[in-house]
Amino acid sequence: MSVLVCGGAGYIGSHCVYKLIELGQKVVVVDNLQTGNSKAIHKDAIFYKGDIRDLDFLNKVFTEQEIDSVIHFAANSLVGISMSEPLSYFDNNVYGTEMLLRAMSQNDIKKIVFSSTAAVYGEPKSVPILETDETNPTNPYGETKLAMEKMMKWVDIAHGIKFVSLRYFNVAGAHESGYIGEAHSPETHLIPLVLEVPLGKREKVLIFGDDYETKDGTCIRDYIHVMDLIEAHLLALEYLEKGNKSDIFNLGNGMGFSVKEIIHASERVTGQKIKNEIAPRRLGDPAILVASSEKAKNILSWRPKYTDINDIISSAWKFHKTHENGFN
Ligand code: UDP
Repeated sequence: MSVLVCGGAGYIGSHCVYKLIELGQKVVVVDNLQTGNSKAIHKDAIFYKGDIRDLDFLNKVFTEQEIDSVIHFAANSLVGISMSEPLSYFDNNVYGTEMLLRAMSQNDIKKIVFSSTAAVYGEPKSVPILETDETNPTNPYGETKLAMEKMMKWVDIAHGIKFVSLRYFNVAGAHESGYIGEAHSPETHLIPLVLEVPLGKREKVLIFGDDYETKDGTCIRDYIHVMDLIEAHLLALEYLEKGNKSDIFNLGNGMGFSVKEIIHASERVTGQKIKNEIAPRRLGDPAILVASSEKAKNILSWRPKYTDINDIISSAWKFHKTHENGFN
């Protein structure tokens, strides 16, 4: 039996595919290559290029392959763009997930691990954030992910499709081999953008706001290494295979770093001064997002290995030094 990885050519999906294959799993990848790159797909995975909004396409994949479970990464994921293009986020994320769940239901596939986000919480009332805290997204990206989670809850009740939703905080770093890593085009995430300065690809990094209610005025985020994140997906699959109930888990390190602290840590890792400049706030950004991942630790027995921000940035740096132009 195979695991279907939707979005397996993207940053996080490609790391999941590598890990599953390293563990001897058969993997089928579906990706429309909208933001993913075919060069990031492991050569031993079976790849179908297509869109999850296309029900006939999904039914063809489920008919041709013996699929037992789904890991779903295929979604638009940028806070800023979601503010200016909300409808494209609802279309790809919500409608895409509707079609995927429809295809799963029609083909009797009963397990899905889902990529959710800290953005479902919005501006938290207290930190660290617990899974039981109020969800009140401040941007359409978070709103679509929350809608997808709610869709899965009702589909479980109606059709018995069990899900684990993993609410990621800020994912960073790269596979140990350095073959794959974070390479978006255009890049919008903080750590790869900061590293573009020592690579000589960018003169300076912009700090989006230094007037937040935080220790140095810049936004605080909880950075989690991509391989630790993937480990949680494998544990979530095992959890579902054991017949456990659908559930939601935060995934983060439980430690917050400000934008300025990330720049300073990157200076230490690269040994170079990183020029930066204060710019206006970015729309839709909450001041502080830090996870409590105690539930994932207790129920899934998840144990993150990369707890030091320097190690996370070093691992990203290893990839970027050898892939200055991403996969091109
Ligand atoms: N950020 C920044 N400059 C950049 C990119 C990001 O100051 O060029 C800030 C952003 O406002 C946020 C944090 O860095 O507070 C992390 O942003 P990112 O886009 O990496 O992830 P997000 O938190 O949006 O998922």
